[in-house]
Amino acid sequence: MDCPRDNTEMSELTDGEERLLSRCAECGGLWVDVADLNRILLHAGLPTLEQARERLRDALISIPWEGLKLSAGDPALPVTVIPAS
Ligand SMILES: [Zn+2]
Repeated sequence: MDCPRDNTEMSELTDGEERLLSRCAECGGLWVDVADLNRILLHAGLPTLEQARERLRDALISIPWEGLKLSAGDPALPVTVIPAS
């Protein structure tokens, strides 16, 4: 497999049985097939890539359009200012 970044032929790192990672000697990139990644994640008791993406989608908060009208220094989130005593 060639490196997706620079098309250099990559070497494969294995656990002795199956290919786990592909390493590019040119850019140092480590690449893993999505099926292999999910297998590794499941083996470690972690959410799969799709489950992690779904979790991130659910957690993302976007700033309302009104937030784009803020002036410099205005808070983007509702805040309560407590005066210093
Ligand atoms: Zn590379």
